[in-house]
Amino acid sequence: MRASGRDLLPIYCAFLAHVFLVIFTHSVFAQAVPRSVLILEESDAVRGQFYASIHAALRTRILTEMREPVSIYIENLDLVFFDGQTYEDGLHELLREKYRGRDIGVVVAIGAGALERALKWRADLWTDTPIVFAVVDSNQTQAQPHNTTGRTIRLSLGDMVSAANAVVPNLKRVVVLGEPFESQSATPFRQFASEIKALSPGLSVVDLTGMPMAELQEEVSRLPGDSAILYTPIYSDGSGAYFPAAEALQIIARAANRPIITPVETYIGLGAIGGYVLVPRIIGEEAADQVLGLLAGKDPATMPVMESASLKPVFDWTVMERWRADPSRLPVGSEIRNRPQPIWRQYPLQSAVIAIIVLMQSGFIAAVLYESRRRRRAEADAHARMIELAHVNRRATAGELSTALAHELNQPLGATLAHAESALIVLDTMSGNTSMMAEILSDIRNETLRASEIIVRLRRLLKKTPTELEKIDPDQLIEDVFKLVATQALEAGVQLLHIPSVEPLAIRGDNIQLQQVILNLVINAIESVRASNGKRIVVGRVARVDISTVEIVISDNGPGIAEDKLAAVFEPFFTTKADGMGMGLSIARTIVETHGGHLKAENKETVGAKFTLVLPLMSQ
Ligand code: ADP
Repeated sequence: MRASGRDLLPIYCAFLAHVFLVIFTHSVFAQAVPRSVLILEESDAVRGQFYASIHAALRTRILTEMREPVSIYIENLDLVFFDGQTYEDGLHELLREKYRGRDIGVVVAIGAGALERALKWRADLWTDTPIVFAVVDSNQTQAQPHNTTGRTIRLSLGDMVSAANAVVPNLKRVVVLGEPFESQSATPFRQFASEIKALSPGLSVVDLTGMPMAELQEEVSRLPGDSAILYTPIYSDGSGAYFPAAEALQIIARAANRPIITPVETYIGLGAIGGYVLVPRIIGEEAADQVLGLLAGKDPATMPVMESASLKPVFDWTVMERWRADPSRLPVGSEIRNRPQPIWRQYPLQSAVIAIIVLMQSGFIAAVLYESRRRRRAEADAHARMIELAHVNRRATAGELSTALAHELNQPLGATLAHAESALIVLDTMSGNTSMMAEILSDIRNETLRASEIIVRLRRLLKKTPTELEKIDPDQLIEDVFKLVATQALEAGVQLLHIPSVEPLAIRGDNIQLQQVILNLVINAIESVRASNGKRIVVGRVARVDISTVEIVISDNGPGIAEDKLAAVFEPFFTTKADGMGMGLSIARTIVETHGGHLKAENKETVGAKFTLVLPLMSQ
């Protein structure tokens, strides 16, 4: 059977009514929780940063999470220094008058004393207002009171001793400072009184609680090396004057000769090394979360009291360094404050840029070094090859010369033979003519010397030696080369003309290499004039150019060099000769350049080619 629209109408109505009821009750209930919070602190404001941090965190969290504005009132009950029924009654009366006509949505009680008063006064001040508590030791609150929730803390002397053990490896003694624990009815340190007796038997405990400040300073300045100081708040100098506890800690830290363990985060940075500390920011945020739940209409009965997560192991790096505490001995999960950050963490962008620049620079330097090494190696290789090539070239030249030299050698050897035969005849007819005999023998000696000189010159040219620098007379170079090619020149009908320098000159270089240069130029010149019909002449001239250079010019009256080939003649394998190798001038130019000079080719204005070799003069 199908349901008609009319049949479904009552169901629609019932549904709409339900939705309306839910929205209505919700908004009525939401309006029933006033958006105002009253914080009751048991301390006074000057007790310091700890309560200020709780308050700041609580306030920030509530104001950022709530969309609507919330009024937050704060009252310092100052129960640590002021007590007594009259004071309390006065406070009670003051609050009644002050908040008459102000609806409070949630009361926050910070500290066991504040919670006690809030519960006591709620009957006539805030009958149905839920209470959130914080900084109340688990021993200080029993079952969850009606319309109340909160977080408990658990400070213990045991935790302070384990922190002391972590920073003093051979710990034998702890020195406990603070207000006498028995007198601290409202603070979470009260139960330290019973704990102090039950501490590990191997540990000696020196109880200095309640000692006047002047004596304390004296005591903590001469403690043995195996001890640590456990600091719980001190509020007076023991003779009536009142301190904020943070200042008392600073005075003690200046005098102490051993590290100070603290139970409160806000004492870190004032000279304490750290310990298991209450972090007030977490306390404030936990309380704020509960306040937000209650403002949203949650029932405190559904929010069980739990232990706060605000106790953390925190240590101060600067103080640890002072006492040479080993970070690896700290409790697992410890936070280390004031540790200098590596520079790249402090300035990540700048460090990245610098790192990139340094990397690029290193890469660049490496490339330059690599390149320069490669170049040096290539230069050394080229030099070695040049020497090798020069030697090959000299052997080839010597090969060319050898026919002429053989002919040249024939002369002194033939003469020697003739002289020797004459000597034999003279000996045969020995008529005592000794002067003639002496003349013949001297001729034999001279011709033999000439022959050996020719051989020496040739051998010297063929010697394969590494570069040897020595002082050289440029005119002597021409002289030597002209002697080497004398026979060849004679054969070709070429006159060798040496025009020496007008003054003695010296250059520094490798004699054999420079001889090779001149030899190449002179042989080329002889070859070029060989075909000429007229007078064939090759000139070697030496002259100073200026104070520091000399030029050696080899010129001829041959056909010269085609103008467009003047540069090409120095290129390897350039030759116009049928049996030429084309290496002579290329090698010659390299040799001259390694001697710091240069070699150029030009045509004379009249006729023939002219090669000029410019070299640095040797400094006197
Ligand atoms: P090669 O003598 O084996 O040809 P070189 O390098 O000594 O090699 O000479 C290269 C070329 O330069 C010669 O082939 C020649 O054309 C030219 N040359 C060199 N010296 C002269 C000169 N004095 N007169 C004319 N041409 C020359």
